[in-house]
Amino acid sequence: MQGLMQDVPLTLDRIFGRAESLWSTKRLSTATPSGVARTTYGEWAARTRRLGGVLDDLGISADGRVATFAWNSSRHLELYFAAPCTGRVLHTLNIRLFAEQVTYIVNHAEDEVIFVDRSLLPILWPLIDDCKTVRHVVVMDDTQGKPDVPPLPTDSRIADYEELLAAAAPHPFGVVTDEYRAASMCYTSGTTGDPKGVVYSHRSVVLHSMAAALSDVLGIREADVILPVVPMFHANAWGLCQAAVMAGAEMVLPGADLTPPGICKLILGEGITVAAGVPTIWMGVRPLLAGQPHRLRTLICGGSAVPKALSEAFRHEVGLPILQAWGMTETSPIATVCAVRSERASASEDELADLRATQGLPAPLVDLRITEPDTGEALPWDGETSGEVQVRGPWIARQYYNDERGAASFTSDGWLATGDVAVVSPDGYVRLVDRTKDLIKSGGEWISSVELENHLMAHPDIVEAAVIAVPSDRWMERPLACVVVKPGASMTSEEVIGWLEPLVAKWWLPEAVEFIDEVPKTSVGKFSKKDLRDRFSDRRVP
Ligand code: ADP
Repeated sequence: MQGLMQDVPLTLDRIFGRAESLWSTKRLSTATPSGVARTTYGEWAARTRRLGGVLDDLGISADGRVATFAWNSSRHLELYFAAPCTGRVLHTLNIRLFAEQVTYIVNHAEDEVIFVDRSLLPILWPLIDDCKTVRHVVVMDDTQGKPDVPPLPTDSRIADYEELLAAAAPHPFGVVTDEYRAASMCYTSGTTGDPKGVVYSHRSVVLHSMAAALSDVLGIREADVILPVVPMFHANAWGLCQAAVMAGAEMVLPGADLTPPGICKLILGEGITVAAGVPTIWMGVRPLLAGQPHRLRTLICGGSAVPKALSEAFRHEVGLPILQAWGMTETSPIATVCAVRSERASASEDELADLRATQGLPAPLVDLRITEPDTGEALPWDGETSGEVQVRGPWIARQYYNDERGAASFTSDGWLATGDVAVVSPDGYVRLVDRTKDLIKSGGEWISSVELENHLMAHPDIVEAAVIAVPSDRWMERPLACVVVKPGASMTSEEVIGWLEPLVAKWWLPEAVEFIDEVPKTSVGKFSKKDLRDRFSDRRVP
């Protein structure tokens, strides 16, 4: 017997249409060099429809790739919907990739047009002749109020966003009837080899938005004012933009100023209730936010492990701990979120802090298992056994776009092998101990670099710490701790090791300590262990 419900495809038009009819008076703001620019969802929706008309006027193919090279802004949000709602595929380019990676991605995705912020044109324009399929470069002028803006190049490919929009007719949308059609794509940040393309469908984005809004996931509500500090080119700003549009939450988009004072000013001045960013962002913002009156209700953090000490500092000084989430570009990205389940709520503050330092519970509709990397055998959730995390679900990639390298990432029974290694508690909390490529194998046993870093960053004089493996004649690999000490403070190697001694097994203690000025960061602001490994590639220990 079949169910007798209506067959309505899960397409982004539905999220867009809801905002257009219900949320037209609600605010959408963008920070600019000359102050916060304000619009409403009503105006945004009208402009988004006209932007759909622009894509037709430019002759973009029916499923053409529409690239963006842009900061978080309300124009970027127009593109987020105009491209998929007219059947095209939004392709968010990471503005911080190396030039060769940008051209590789643009050519691989066959982008036909790139919408670029004027402030970023000096980075993009020198690459444009290597972008073989790009016919148009549409410039979004975000430089009002900025001194010394270079003139635009004279070139027939260049057009002005606002001029095109003013001349375009609104698009009726409603062309997408197949929910499995591609809506957007995003490439992994390519820390190992060329980036790989992930293609999201309308259905996956709609389901992911619904899940993101759930109370025990990110809990997005109509009454929220959301600040996605996480870039709209980094794994879809973790789904916050579409979830906000669906829920009717107001949004404040931070533009180009991602400095701690810039972010703090928005949080305090705009009445932000939900903000999201990688740990390095919150490390910078914390001292400025401490003790200030604010409306924050949820501080979302992911992308790399959230140090317990950071979350605790926020709890003590700002009044709320960090909500940790784990995922990857391939998982849209939300896979697990660390809500405290009610049976655990009466635990001691310290136990709760340990719990919040885990990556949390699998989100609804996400299946998760840990496996023995060599045999693929499923391992128990006993809080002790570690294995590779594999996930499955309606917003998880099943293959990469036109890429042979994917075979290793997808199992024969249809799960995504994430390359992350975790322990899972009997009640489902996932605790990442490492990425497979960052694990340190000493004398046949694994050492968790994440755990060592967590302990190091809990020291009051240590601001950043990253632990990498260095070759050892006797043990194969041994840990090397790279430590950044607070300005004005000083520490010796013995003090660093002495701090760890009571906290970890003796054979986990780093073999050596390097004091560095800063941990190098990846294009999305994570600690780049690859750069550290390159820098200390000459180190060897007995
Ligand atoms: P890349 O793989 O190039 O870094 P992603 O942004 O897709 O690009 O990163 C996904 C990876 O980031 C995950 O596989 C995991 O290793 C790491 N990660 C994400 N969130 C967390 C978290 N909360 N704790 C620890 N690691 C995380």
